[in-house]
Amino acid sequence: MAASEHEDVIHLDFQSLNNPNSDLYIRAHERVKYFVENKLQTSRIAELKYDIVYDMEKTNEDDLVQQLSSNCFNTTVKKFFKFRNDKCELCESLRTINNHLHRCHCNYNNCTRPILCRRALKKCKEESSNNKVKFKDIAHEFIRLHGESPLYMLCSSCHRIYDKNTFNEPKDYGGFSDESDESDESNESDDEVKPLIINKFKTQQDAKKYYDEHLKNIIINESNGKTKRGPNTRKQNSDGYYTAQIKKQRKVWSCDEIQSGVYRGAANNDYWFYPCYQDISDKTTLQWWLIHKDKTDIINSTILFK
Ligand SMILES: [Zn+2]
Repeated sequence: MAASEHEDVIHLDFQSLNNPNSDLYIRAHERVKYFVENKLQTSRIAELKYDIVYDMEKTNEDDLVQQLSSNCFNTTVKKFFKFRNDKCELCESLRTINNHLHRCHCNYNNCTRPILCRRALKKCKEESSNNKVKFKDIAHEFIRLHGESPLYMLCSSCHRIYDKNTFNEPKDYGGFSDESDESDESNESDDEVKPLIINKFKTQQDAKKYYDEHLKNIIINESNGKTKRGPNTRKQNSDGYYTAQIKKQRKVWSCDEIQSGVYRGAANNDYWFYPCYQDISDKTTLQWWLIHKDKTDIINSTILFK
């Protein structure tokens, strides 16, 4: 039973979450350290592969921290720290479809996501000789910093009470609560998210050739069991640019935007195909990106379908 009624929560020891000598704190801290020490070097989560470079002379640091901590990194913690708890660590309510467990940062050391993100960025800047930092390096440091402090698995009710009450340091940020977006949805996959394979081509004909040679025979249309024809030929707009529509937005896309994975979740595709520009003010920097899942993933899903 979730700790939703106040009678139930009175006996719960919320103080122990912020007490470095409590069993709960020690256990949760050991667990998070174990993940950082043993899994960070070999992890295959996508965030640790992104090569996007931020030039910090041209980038507003506050905007970048906000963007990373509210968009990009909000699922990173969940993907990396694959805890297997079946009940809330405080009230012991069982994990069910209606009672999701959340990864909760211990606030004793001010280890909220935006703060860790800002510290990670700062460290990457300090280590950079040219004031440029890479997304994947920030992500790596962001995860590493989680080893400093426990991550608890709490039900929504406990999480809410913990966040709301004075057990915590006051928050020095707004709008980035960890609540809900790190919750485990009921169908959490056991697999790590595999990075997609990005192939870049000078012309769309080259991309189509690659499709025909490498993908055509394994990408199957699930509705009729036939192979898919592959990418359609795109035409330039009246300004001479190639546009693409991603999540209802049609525009000229930069390579950085595509690299950031904006197309993910747009459709459950086996491949994506986009024109994009290294510099959107320069038509000659056009590239054609054919992005696909790991072939073994495609083949597995094809076998499942048959
Ligand atoms: Zn609970």
